[in-house]
Amino acid sequence: MGERTGRGNVNRPPIVDLHCDTLGALEPEERNLDEWSNRGQLDLPRLEEGGVSVQFFAVFVPRTHIAQGKATLRALHLIDLFHRQLAQRGGLWRPAGDFQEVEAAIRDGGRAACLSLEGGEALGEDLGVLRILRRLGVASVGLTWNHRNGLGCGCLDGEQEGLTPFGRSVVAEAVRLRMMVDVAHLNQAGFWEVLDACPAPVIVSHANAHRRMAHPRNLRDEQIVALAAKGGVMGLTFVPAFLGEHGVSRRVLLEHLDHVVGLVGSAAVGLGSDFDGFGAGAAGLEDAAALVDLDEDLLRLGYNDDQVAAILGGNWLRVMRETI
Ligand SMILES: [Zn+2]
Repeated sequence: MGERTGRGNVNRPPIVDLHCDTLGALEPEERNLDEWSNRGQLDLPRLEEGGVSVQFFAVFVPRTHIAQGKATLRALHLIDLFHRQLAQRGGLWRPAGDFQEVEAAIRDGGRAACLSLEGGEALGEDLGVLRILRRLGVASVGLTWNHRNGLGCGCLDGEQEGLTPFGRSVVAEAVRLRMMVDVAHLNQAGFWEVLDACPAPVIVSHANAHRRMAHPRNLRDEQIVALAAKGGVMGLTFVPAFLGEHGVSRRVLLEHLDHVVGLVGSAAVGLGSDFDGFGAGAAGLEDAAALVDLDEDLLRLGYNDDQVAAILGGNWLRVMRETI
């Protein structure tokens, strides 16, 4: 840890990260959320070192569990793991299911941990499961992963169809339940349908700019413009394959940021690291503790204090206030 004492001790803007895959990595890697580990990329001590005040944890169900018909059980297992392990950090981290709980945790000098569903397989064909997950604290719902499911079509399975009737009913119910609707991973047809259907801002929890890296998971300029026009936010992600071809680093992430800000300004972009969702990280973005001096890089690039605060967390907090 060297000379660093963590960002929480000094007057720096709170960081909000809308996506990590840590819940699914804890048991296979035999580590706990509340212990600094040299395995994986994110745990609560490393978030504290990095200055992260609000962290979203994805509930992602792998294909093996889906094939066995155990998607809902797997989701419940991960939600239980989240609540049990958070409690071990002595109250510093609070589970937060809505904006008021997030705001209260920060105001009291603590930090907030939130749940997001990544892919709707756990819902089966029953909106009642969505309502139960909302009661368990799940604040955001992503309809698909990369492939087709009962809600819609992921970005790697073509553009022949958008949302299914059940997918449309999930969007409507999520809005009614004050959940964020996350269109990361959805194909373009689904993206535009959700944008049309949602009265509230839509989010893209983790994706980069297609203009900088032509990957199907990244957003085209016209998608970024439309998302921003509706008050939505996209979380720039550290997944090396979504950053560039080779030699990716923090500098490349900042090029994606510059592109998005050049296109729509600084109010529609935040962070969605996807830590623990990929192998080796890009240089300068190795783990959650590395975020400790990201604000200094933004200031050096010419962003002013207000823009830095918005990009690192303020934009996500604004969307949460308007949605959940
Ligand atoms: Zn993902």
